[in-house]
Amino acid sequence: MDRSYETIIIGGGVVGSSIAYHLSEQTKEAVLVLDQKFPLSGTSGSTQAWVWVHNKTPSWYAEFSMYSAELYSYLSKKIGDVEFKRTGGLSPFFNEADREKAVRLAEAYEQIGIKIKVLSREEALEKEPFLNPDVVGATYSAIDGNVNPFRLVDRYMRAAKKNGVQYSTYNKVTEIQKMPGKFIVVSEKGEFSCKNLILAGGTWSRELGKLVDVNIPINQLRGQILVTEPLKPFLNYTISGLRQAFNGEVLIGYSMEQEGFNRATTLDVIQETANMAVHYVPSLKKAKVVRAFSGIRAMPEDGFPILGKIPGVENLYVAATHSGVTLSPLIGTLMTELILEGETSIPIDRYSISRFAK
Ligand SMILES: Cc1cc2nc3c(=O)[nH]c(=O)nc-3n(C[C@H](O)[C@H](O)[C@H](O)COP(=O)(O)OP(=O)(O)OC[C@H]3O[C@@H](n4cnc5c(N)ncnc54)[C@H](O)[C@@H]3O)c2cc1C
Repeated sequence: MDRSYETIIIGGGVVGSSIAYHLSEQTKEAVLVLDQKFPLSGTSGSTQAWVWVHNKTPSWYAEFSMYSAELYSYLSKKIGDVEFKRTGGLSPFFNEADREKAVRLAEAYEQIGIKIKVLSREEALEKEPFLNPDVVGATYSAIDGNVNPFRLVDRYMRAAKKNGVQYSTYNKVTEIQKMPGKFIVVSEKGEFSCKNLILAGGTWSRELGKLVDVNIPINQLRGQILVTEPLKPFLNYTISGLRQAFNGEVLIGYSMEQEGFNRATTLDVIQETANMAVHYVPSLKKAKVVRAFSGIRAMPEDGFPILGKIPGVENLYVAATHSGVTLSPLIGTLMTELILEGETSIPIDRYSISRFAK
């Protein structure tokens, strides 16, 4: 293994691996990805993996998500089958007051070119016949879908490796030294040097930031997900709260709990999640739940991505976000532009870490 690289990326999850892949498509300079475990050991291996735009707010964040979702079809042609399915997304509502909110959402999105349709009860049930007949309506967007996160990270990684990127796994970074024109990255398997250093440590970003005296305000937010036995395909759409995977399993849930790095699953949340599923799709009552798992979201303090250069330290970058599955194609593209050209094709100033200094 070499010891000197043009770029080192710390974190091989969906964000770090997307950056590695996109960068390696544009440059032959040496790139190394370091991961304290393996690329799916973090949040990217414990996610719902919707490619989701609809009802992201405010609308500029929805627009950012839309650009990324649009990249998925091309990406899957390039890196291989990631089981990306643009199912369309449905957000059912169960009272009339929510229809007003839905109409306002649709109007706001119209201005940025995202079509959200507010469906009547009959239209919602026509699209998704297994929805609870008590549904009052739903918002619908054709742009949403989902992907297999295991395949996605694996394909990013394989494509990056094919382009010459090296991965060093089970190799925790313990220290970072800033030297003139380079960084020395100290890991459990020795020292590496690089010109560009990218912190893509997901939910561990705050700890990584401390190694370079930078506050990266990422908090942990646990989510528990239930998985049913494989069922015959019966859900047509990604429904906010649940989706049916290619193999027939239904993945249910999006709990939000402040439990630090604790990845336990708990009976109370499992019960709440099962009740929510049966409320949305009553026939799920008969489905057998075969497992539950939890993941820890990397949640920026204000909820929005933290992307770009770290001011005051030359050639140091950060990419940390929630919704990293949805955003990974765009983040990989934009971080590559920033590293190689010094600027991005669409502005990312609003996602700069400097906003937290204000
Ligand atoms: C329950 C749940 C549901 C979700 N649903 C969705 C969804 O539907 N759609 C969506 O877009 N997003 C969703 N997300 C969020 C999405 O999964 C994450 O935003 C994304 O996986 C983050 O990817 P990442 O690469 O930043 O982080 P990770 O996958 O956690 O990767 C970070 C990597 O950094 C490594 N690392 C950390 N510190 C060090 C160190 N010191 N040295 C070396 N390596 C280090 C870790 O080992 C890890 O592999 C969900 C998350 C959860 C928990």
